[in-house]
Amino acid sequence: MLDKVVIANRGEIALRILRACHALGIRTVAVHSTVDRNLKHVAMADESVCIGPAPSTDSYLNMAQIIAAAEVTDAQAIHPGYGFLSENADFAERVEQSGFIFIGPKADTIRLMGDKVEAIRAMKDAGVPCVPGSGGPLGDDAATNTKIAREIGYPVIVKAAGGGGGRGMRVVHTEAHLHSAIQTTKSEAKAAFGNDMVYMEKFLENPRHVEIQVLADGQGNAIHLGERDCSMQRRHQKVVEEAPAPGITAEQRAEIGKVCTEACIRIGYRGAGTFEFLYENGRFYFIEMNTRIQVEHPVTEMVTGIDLVREQLMIAAGNPLSIRQEDVVLDGHAIECRINAEDPETFMPSPGLIAHFHAPGGPGVRVDSHIYEGYRVPPNYDSMIGKLIVHGATREQAICRMRVALSEMVVDGIRTNVPLQQRILSDIGFQQGAQNIHYLEKRLKEQKEKSLSIV
Ligand code: ADP
Repeated sequence: MLDKVVIANRGEIALRILRACHALGIRTVAVHSTVDRNLKHVAMADESVCIGPAPSTDSYLNMAQIIAAAEVTDAQAIHPGYGFLSENADFAERVEQSGFIFIGPKADTIRLMGDKVEAIRAMKDAGVPCVPGSGGPLGDDAATNTKIAREIGYPVIVKAAGGGGGRGMRVVHTEAHLHSAIQTTKSEAKAAFGNDMVYMEKFLENPRHVEIQVLADGQGNAIHLGERDCSMQRRHQKVVEEAPAPGITAEQRAEIGKVCTEACIRIGYRGAGTFEFLYENGRFYFIEMNTRIQVEHPVTEMVTGIDLVREQLMIAAGNPLSIRQEDVVLDGHAIECRINAEDPETFMPSPGLIAHFHAPGGPGVRVDSHIYEGYRVPPNYDSMIGKLIVHGATREQAICRMRVALSEMVVDGIRTNVPLQQRILSDIGFQQGAQNIHYLEKRLKEQKEKSLSIV
């Protein structure tokens, strides 16, 4: 087993990683920025190192400082969490070259998955179903591009190979707009990602977002832990996630899960990972692979009883997977609501002092959060201040438990999206389940128009 791990992240995920380490008897090093001295996990860690000022480019994205912190504390491994450097192949490489273990896949795997054109090609070769598309980068020949688009069929979406975070893509409905769309996406991609390579896919009009969680040891073993439905999104950001996905049958799960585990073995995947799919008319279409732990991992933990961060640590220590596919049994239903420090109507961030905090509880209720009374939410980072996760025997029970838990939750001093989450959980469409990725924004728009008309 590892004996000391640097947690190269902040907030709730840093605390989550710390808990998994301590449960395995692994000592922890918290690295933090100057404004993050008062984070809960910094107080709980065995050691802490301040790695720079508040801006993340100077602290949580500062590779040299993080590696130096591992050196001075004589740690063995670095856990990157999610966001920040978690999917940065150069960082993974530098960590390993400095003699530390990067808790995640090999740098080459991260690099492969970070280039969407290459990732899709590799997945296609491994038998993973992909969105019909150009199958490679688009050239400058207008006639060829027109032909590709006609073959795919409109609407199409032009996407940057190096894109991320929902940026660098453009939907094209008619041939008249194709070439200008390709040119604009190319120049935007060049400016934003330093890479003007773009490709084309069929634009699916009403898909759901369904993703498969995998674990692989890089030693020839891989399993899947079923799927999550993350279709409740606003501006491509997930708001509510659940497992299992409503309406997905055991056969479908087994089939797509097998495809993903086989792909993991084929590419020598190591660690926890997620295959993201768009799901439409009963079919899965691969869009990208996330090579890290995800925000929404707890819903999978709640239905499988498997501690994913513990497994990441076990794999990083070189242990073969100890869980077999037949040991993975889904039990009941889990839902996660992301709790953000933001105005529930305008979505403006709302940092500041938490004057009062009461966490909900009861059977099947889990709160993953670093906040406490007297904690000041800094304005420098993502507005997520925690996650409320519930488990129930059925989806109905999970919804009931979430509604009670949300009503118990008190965060005074700042504004949060708890009222928005309450509206979502009491929405008939959400309760019916299986809504597509546009549902939440459509409902928000309708509600806004309604409230405006009342005024
Ligand atoms: P990113 O890495 O920026 O998140 P993704 O490829 O995961 O990019 O796509 C982000 C989102 O864009 C998807 O969740 C989906 O909402 C939308 N999208 C991407 N590709 C398609 C497609 N072919 N058809 C419809 N929507 C798409």
